[in-house]
Amino acid sequence: MARRPMLAGNWKMFGDRALAADLIDASIAAAKAEPGRDVLVAPPFTLLDFAAQRIAANQVLLAAQDVHWEPKGAFTGEVSCAMLREVGCTHAIVGHSERRQHFGETDASAGDKVAAVLGAGLTPILCVGETLAERDSGATAAVIERQVRGGLARIAADRIAEVIVAYDPVWAIGTGKVATPAQAQEVHARIRGLLASLGADADAARILYGGSVKPDNVDQLMAQADLDGALVGGASLEAAAFTRVVRFGA
Ligand code: PEP
Repeated sequence: MARRPMLAGNWKMFGDRALAADLIDASIAAAKAEPGRDVLVAPPFTLLDFAAQRIAANQVLLAAQDVHWEPKGAFTGEVSCAMLREVGCTHAIVGHSERRQHFGETDASAGDKVAAVLGAGLTPILCVGETLAERDSGATAAVIERQVRGGLARIAADRIAEVIVAYDPVWAIGTGKVATPAQAQEVHARIRGLLASLGADADAARILYGGSVKPDNVDQLMAQADLDGALVGGASLEAAAFTRVVRFGA
């Protein structure tokens, strides 16, 4: 089955309006040049409204980098799914390793967020990935399985394929160390198998790879059968680099 590739830029805590304008204009141009692909940007919360206005109807998708699972309440500093929808988001990243590492995100909270995001009519991008110590000790498969099961724990089998899973090995994020195409493919195939065992339409599910994706490695990564796109950090902050990532194989 041909799955529609997605190239997603996670800007993390970077950017101002000038950079956002530059990156969004480049993303719109790249999306127009590659109409068979989804192009997504995930700016910081404060730039979401600016980004939504600039994207207008121009076929670039907009994600938040995190979200709270409750619809509203006394949760100082948090943002709900409804707020994200109102500002124009289509997607929300959940369970990024930086949220897990620095802000106490757990498999259970990721599971609550995935359920809330899907329930609100947005698409979750659920991030999973092992640390270097976990990989070196042979625990990669177990860690990924635990994180995927936890993130999807509250989702009915017939909706699991709506969740985009991003395999982001922690040791490859922002380090310049990229998983080899074979390492990435192995984990992606394992995730797809797990989704099938959970009763999902696994052939339809999209699984992105993230971890130092750059113009010079994206072609080999995207040539792998089970890689359906990329979640890109550093290279998404440079218009030319992100354009080349979107135009992989060109
Ligand atoms: C990420 O933040 O998910 C990521 C993959 O970052 P980078 O591309 O910078 O490694």
